[in-house]
Amino acid sequence: MGRAKIVVVGSLVFDLVAWAERRPQKGESLLGTDFGMFPGGKGANQAVQAAKLGAEVFMCGRVGEDFFGESLIANLKKERVDATFVIKDKETTTAVGCIVIDKEGDNSIVMVPQANMRCKTEDVDRVKKIIAQSDLLLLQLEIPLLVDIYAARIAKQEGVKVILNPAPARDIPDELISLSDIITPSEIETQILTGVKADNMDNIKKGAISLIKRGAKVVIVTLGEKGALMVTESKDLHFPAYKVSAVDTTGAGDAFNGALSVAIAEGRELEEAIKLANAAGALSVTKRGAQPSLPQREEVEELNRGQRPFLTE
Ligand code: ADP
Repeated sequence: MGRAKIVVVGSLVFDLVAWAERRPQKGESLLGTDFGMFPGGKGANQAVQAAKLGAEVFMCGRVGEDFFGESLIANLKKERVDATFVIKDKETTTAVGCIVIDKEGDNSIVMVPQANMRCKTEDVDRVKKIIAQSDLLLLQLEIPLLVDIYAARIAKQEGVKVILNPAPARDIPDELISLSDIITPSEIETQILTGVKADNMDNIKKGAISLIKRGAKVVIVTLGEKGALMVTESKDLHFPAYKVSAVDTTGAGDAFNGALSVAIAEGRELEEAIKLANAAGALSVTKRGAQPSLPQREEVEELNRGQRPFLTE
């Protein structure tokens, strides 16, 4: 198979990141130890990861007509993501993420969606032809739900695969679940989506099975340092995480989803694709920032070699 072609309909966010010993408490003003500005947004991050792994990627989304928006578009171009379908919205500002990371590498985030929540079905119409010619459509939940559903319907009509990363978690209709070929919640997102407490592997599996009952074909729960759990109607497999030392977990899920999409779009077997995604996720936590930490193809393939999944009890 040739170069994979992927469309991402999703968010672009300008991330303002402060590092500190710990995250501030209510009412507390804390001195930080470092600061950085990074392009972000789950949609853009996943698009960049897919492009870094060699796919031809088209991003559809919205920014404001401001410095942050310009900068995000320039960054997509630099990363070889086609930004033709990113609209500059005059009515609002670009989304921003205010992130605090503590010395353990754990984060707290306030994300202000702004232009992302003004994405419209007409925006998807502009990219409809490209979706029809693509191998895969990749979606998250940082834009209006009806736009995700609209895009997924188009992909389905055209026989194009759909991966839904249901993040950040919110209630979604069964239609969107069944329009997706693969759905990739994290543990906490599985809990919020299903109401089943994700406090141990059995319960996480129960949550995933309840998504299968609602029409999901493949559920892949990302488990942070524990790797990923794949659940289908007929089997479940745990893919342990690669051992790495985590410095910043921001964007791990985006690395995972971007890599998973490329592997699936290239026609790889599902289990092989999950191994690759696990490797990309692990590499992303070894560096600071969301997009700057997204790994290149060679690094991912290298880490991936030799790893085997094992069956859960
Ligand atoms: P999110 O970033 O959306 O919260 P997770 O924390 O579940 O998602 O991470 C996504 C994927 O990244 C995991 O499934 C795993 O493959 C990888 N990953 C995350 N944290 C680590 C870690 N500490 N060590 C190794 N791999 C990790």
